[in-house]
Amino acid sequence: MKLKEIVEGKVKIFIPDPNEYLVNGKFDPAWAPVFYNPKMIFNRDLSVIVVSVVKPKIIVDALSATGVRGIRYYIESWKSEELILNDKNPEAIKLIQLNLKYNNIEEAKVYNRDANSLLYEIKADYVDIDPFGSPAPFILSSISSIIRNGIAAFTATDLSPLEGSSKLSCRRKYDAINFKLSSSKEIGIRILIGKIIREAAILEKTVYPLFSFYADYYYRLFLKVDKGAKKADKNIINNLKYFGECPRCGYQQFLQDNCKTLCPKCGTEMIIVGPLYSGPLIDSEFIRLLIEAHEKFTYISTFDRVKKLLNLISNESKYTSVYYKLDKLASKLKIPKLPSIANVLECLGQASRTHFDPKGIKTDKEYEEIIKCLKS
Ligand code: SAM
Repeated sequence: MKLKEIVEGKVKIFIPDPNEYLVNGKFDPAWAPVFYNPKMIFNRDLSVIVVSVVKPKIIVDALSATGVRGIRYYIESWKSEELILNDKNPEAIKLIQLNLKYNNIEEAKVYNRDANSLLYEIKADYVDIDPFGSPAPFILSSISSIIRNGIAAFTATDLSPLEGSSKLSCRRKYDAINFKLSSSKEIGIRILIGKIIREAAILEKTVYPLFSFYADYYYRLFLKVDKGAKKADKNIINNLKYFGECPRCGYQQFLQDNCKTLCPKCGTEMIIVGPLYSGPLIDSEFIRLLIEAHEKFTYISTFDRVKKLLNLISNESKYTSVYYKLDKLASKLKIPKLPSIANVLECLGQASRTHFDPKGIKTDKEYEEIIKCLKS
């Protein structure tokens, strides 16, 4: 393999030289013998900050590829007692070993295993699942390996099923009924969390989101894992719901089940998706700690973008409702001129922009008040 040295964060690593794997003059990270995607630096930068706050004893980077993620955690976030890097691709293992040596890390354990079989054998308090596409095949094994109060970190790049474009794929992978709705960017992350809650419950465990977000073309979740059948039951009963949107007037609400429901505002049959998680997506104390920790990471190339996202998420987390997409709402209601988002926010008083959508707002105010502000 022809290699190229790059710098990401504070580490220097070798990756497959993109120029050696061009097809018709173009390059896709999936065409190289080992996967490295510079578009995921934002994801890794944020994860480095999370790990610096959590300070886990045992870090498992279960799908390591070049090892960049785990190596960055160890060098930039926190020297954990154990660092485990794993990949089923033997070429990746050679690169991980080279990159560990290059960064003077002698103490890491490297496995060339199927992640699922490895995860069923080990215990850890931080497990990172950063797969190609869906994390669904790794949910049960990763939750099984995580001890009480440990953290499960998941990336999902398969937005098409989660956002309701590939309905059958959503049924297959996430066991949820899905349609494209106005707020599908948030619905998708809630369907994913809902699936993880149900899988964790099989093991008499449950999960609570500490920090979860949407960026570029993926979701990223950091979930706290807890143990106990009663806690698992309680989370399911309180937080696993369905969600309905009225195709005519845009009214939306969480629902207890997926029975035919008429919109309480205009009587039209609602489009229902789910099951999905209806609780908070963010732990406000955790986001405060992330905002504080971020100040120390002045060297990361995404410093300003991270700051903007953390502040926006901190604001929107004050509101428990799913965001309303104002342009869609205005077009459903045939409101000819959409006022600026800033004006709507001012009119509502208690409301926030959302990182999910530049045309979206979050508020706990009644639907009628939102419409009044849209029309004013
Ligand atoms: N985490 C890496 C990063 O931040 O650069 C990227 C990981 S890449 C998206 C996914 C990796 O998972 C690939 O290197 C692939 O070989 C590995 N992989 C896929 N299925 C696996 C499995 N069942 N067990 C172990 N590794 C697997």
